[in-house]
Amino acid sequence: MPIVFADIHCHPSMKPFGLSFQSNNHTAQSNQPNMPTSTWYKNKPGIGDKVANELGGLTLFTQSDYQTLQKGNMRFVVSSIYPVEKGFVASHGLLGEKLIEKVMGIGANRINYIQKHNNYYADAKNEYDFLMQLNDVAINIDGQAFMYRTLTSGKDIEKLQSMYSNSNVIINVISIEGGHALNCGLPGIKANTDDVLANVEKIRKWTHRPFFITLAHHFYNELCGHARSLHLPLQKQLKINQNQYLDTGINPLGFDVINAMLQNRDGCRILVDIKHMSRQSRLQYFEIAKTKQVPIIASHAGVTGLHNPQGHETIKGASKKFMTDDINFYDDEIIAIAASDGLIGIQLDERRMASNDALFEANTTDLTYRWEKWAELLWRQFFHIAQVLDNESMYAWDCICIGSDFDGLINPIGPYWTAAETEELYKQLLKHASQTVPGYRWQFAANNASPKLIADKIMSTNAIGFVAKHYTTAINPAI
Ligand SMILES: [Zn+2]
Repeated sequence: MPIVFADIHCHPSMKPFGLSFQSNNHTAQSNQPNMPTSTWYKNKPGIGDKVANELGGLTLFTQSDYQTLQKGNMRFVVSSIYPVEKGFVASHGLLGEKLIEKVMGIGANRINYIQKHNNYYADAKNEYDFLMQLNDVAINIDGQAFMYRTLTSGKDIEKLQSMYSNSNVIINVISIEGGHALNCGLPGIKANTDDVLANVEKIRKWTHRPFFITLAHHFYNELCGHARSLHLPLQKQLKINQNQYLDTGINPLGFDVINAMLQNRDGCRILVDIKHMSRQSRLQYFEIAKTKQVPIIASHAGVTGLHNPQGHETIKGASKKFMTDDINFYDDEIIAIAASDGLIGIQLDERRMASNDALFEANTTDLTYRWEKWAELLWRQFFHIAQVLDNESMYAWDCICIGSDFDGLINPIGPYWTAAETEELYKQLLKHASQTVPGYRWQFAANNASPKLIADKIMSTNAIGFVAKHYTTAINPAI
C-alpha cells in the first residue's frame, strides 16, 4: 500500500461554507464537485493567482479541498472549523470590507453575517453541520466515487482499515480553531460562564467530537492572551487591531474551560491546542498538562531557534534561520511538548518558517533547485527540533508532523502551493534527511534513524498514531 500522507491542521470547509451564504439556501453544501459551495470544489492556482499571492498575500485558490487532498494522497486530515472572528470584519468601510472579502475568499454575505451575529458557537456548529452533510457521501468525479469519512474516536482507525486502504477514501477528524467558538470574546458583550461551559459539553456530545480546540486565535477571547499573529503593516492596511490583552496569561474563565475540556468522563476528553496562545499562557498551560498528564499539541507551528525569549541559542546560529516572533515556539517549549508525548505540526507558511535572509536565499535560488531549496526550509524546522531533543538525550522523531494550515490564509512555501504537491514534498524531505541525518553527531544513538523512517513519521505515521492513541472513545460511536 502506498504511504498515506497526514495533515493535522487544514481548513477544507472554510471557503465553501462562507460562499454558501451567497445563496438563499445558506449553509447547504453542494454535492457537485464543480460548485464552489462544495468541499470537493478544486480551484487550482493560475499564474495570476500566484502573482496575487506573492505580492498581496491573497489566496484566490483552494489548497485543501478534498479533491486536491485526494490528488496529493493527503488522505488523513484534521479539518479545522473556524468561526471567523468579528475583529476581522469590524468597521472598515466599504473598501476595507471588499479587501477583507478578497483576502478571506468567503463572499460578501458571509462577511455581513459575521458582522451581525451574536453567537460564535452557533456559527461553529453550522460549519460543522455543513461539513458533515457530505460525510460518508460518495461524490462522483470523472466517473469514480470518492468520499471523506469522519472519525468518532481513534479506535475507528482500526475498524476502518479496509476503508483506509481504499485509495478513494479520505479519513477526516474534526478540530476547532479559536476558543471563541464557545461563545466568548464577542466585542462589547461579556461572556456568560454558564453558557460557555455548557457549550463545551455540547461540543463534547457532537457525534464527531473535535479532537482538539485551538484555545486562542487572533483576538482576545476572554479565555487567555494571544500572541501577535498579524504584522503591523497588514493590521494597518486592514484596519485590524489585535492589541487588546495581547501577550497576557490565562483568565479564570480560561482555566474553567481548560478543565472542562480535559475532563475525561467516558473517555471524551478534548485536547487543548496551544498554537496562537501567548508565551505566558503557554507556560501556564504546560503546568496543567503536566499535572493532568495530557499530551500537548501545537497544531500548526514554527520554531524560533531560541531557547527562550531571552535570546539564548541551544543550537548555534539557529535563530538566524528562523522567524523569531513569539507566535513560534522556543526550544524549552519543544522539550515540554515532546516530554508530554505531544505533537508539533509544522505549518507550510513561508512567513512563519524562515528568517527574511533565508527567504531571500530561497527566492533567488536557480529554478532547477527550487523544489529542494524550499523544502529545505521545512526540513530545517524538523531538524532543529530533533537537535534540541537530542541535546536532552530524548528521542527526536516521534513528536513532529505536518500541520499545513492550508486554506487558512497562508503564504505557501515556494512552489508547494497546495496539498497536490505533497508527494514531491515527501521526496524532497527524504532527500534532506538522507543528506543530514547520517552525518550528524547524535548524542542519543537511536536518533540516527533511517531517513525513510523519519520521512514516513513526519508525513504520515506520527499524526495517525497520535490520533489513534489520544482521540479517545466517543459517547456516541456511530461507526
Ligand atoms: Zn488554521
